[in-house]
Amino acid sequence: MPVLGRDVTVPLVTGGEVTYAALDYAASAPALQRVWDDVAAYAPYYGSVHRGAGYLSQLSTDLFENSRRTVHEFLDCRDDDQVVFTRSTTDSLNLLAAALPAGCRVFVFETEHHASLLPWSDADVTYLDAPRTPADAVRTLERALADREPYGPALVCVTGASNVTGELWPVRELAAAAHAHGARIVLDAAQLAPHHPVSVRDLDVDWVAFSGHKLYAPFGSGVLAGRADWLQAAEPYLAGGGASRTVARRADGGVDVEWHTTAARHEAGSPNVIGVYAIASACKALTEAGFDALVARERHLIDTVRAGLAEVPEVRVLSLFGDDAPRVGVISFVVDGWNSSHFAAALSAEYGIGVRDGLFCAHPLVRTLLGSDPQDVGECGAPDAAPGERSLNAIRVSFGAGTPDEHVERFVTAVR
Ligand code: PMP
Repeated sequence: MPVLGRDVTVPLVTGGEVTYAALDYAASAPALQRVWDDVAAYAPYYGSVHRGAGYLSQLSTDLFENSRRTVHEFLDCRDDDQVVFTRSTTDSLNLLAAALPAGCRVFVFETEHHASLLPWSDADVTYLDAPRTPADAVRTLERALADREPYGPALVCVTGASNVTGELWPVRELAAAAHAHGARIVLDAAQLAPHHPVSVRDLDVDWVAFSGHKLYAPFGSGVLAGRADWLQAAEPYLAGGGASRTVARRADGGVDVEWHTTAARHEAGSPNVIGVYAIASACKALTEAGFDALVARERHLIDTVRAGLAEVPEVRVLSLFGDDAPRVGVISFVVDGWNSSHFAAALSAEYGIGVRDGLFCAHPLVRTLLGSDPQDVGECGAPDAAPGERSLNAIRVSFGAGTPDEHVERFVTAVR
């Protein structure tokens, strides 16, 4: 699938220049050409959403609401599920956290991205130890849910695909375990949705969250989709126009507000119609390309990278579930004797390859993966680390739709 940015050339420290190899899709994926074309075709006709009688305002409102239907369909939501447009996965999960019923318990694995790990601090949170197999994950959750019974409302938050190891989590089984104990489950699909079809009905999750910029639609929007009841019982995430149906002064001088009971309740303010339209465009493009073909193509790229890394004895690929675990195109590793930040900088400066180094906003997970078998990864990974301080950081390569063979082959050659 054509993506933007394939024509960027970058200078090399060794002289000359090379086309840039964007291998950091897990942070932000390039825009699909199709998304760009759709956005460019609409942009001249941009207007206010839900706020105007004029033609362009009507057009924007239609695009916005049709985009909601497209996302609903893309996620195979239940008929009465609501699709709320947000800024990102982080925003979506914080919205849900703000909508938890009083006394809600939350269960979350320590291996989560910080966006899934941290928003629940106002609830009664149980942090679960890193599992070493998918079955272990299900057992760990079941045990934790059973140990803490009885409880009222409860929520499990789990990632679909790890942003560190790329490994797929047993979402359907975790959802079944959650429901068997009366808990609900939210799926962080930030890394899953760009690579695999996500069916809310089939996985039987209560909510799903993802970001446009990882789904080839980098225009500042995200999605929280799922059950309406908790969302509609909660105070609006943001108070303001668009979320309120009617507002009136009371005789006692105060203000009475009747809030919407649709997704609009949590979408106060003028929405990011371009970002939302871009997400819908990406959903359509991915569906039309077909996930079977996308998964098969990505499988080939994953195999190339893993086989290349396996040839270098100093490389250790990070994995929670082992070599055979199904995964998406996100692979993290360390190289003996190398500081990961220096290694990533060298890939950029000498080969024009963009990867990421660090702890990937999943500090407990990366510590678990590296900590049990510390590598000599050199001095100071973090910019503010003290001289001589050992760092536990890693290098992450990630790719997806539109990644040419040449990019991953160049990466493998460079690592070698
Ligand atoms: N969850 C996962 C698994 C992620 O990989 C990320 C982004 N790295 C997020 C949540 C947060 O996404 P965003 O930064 O778009 O809010």
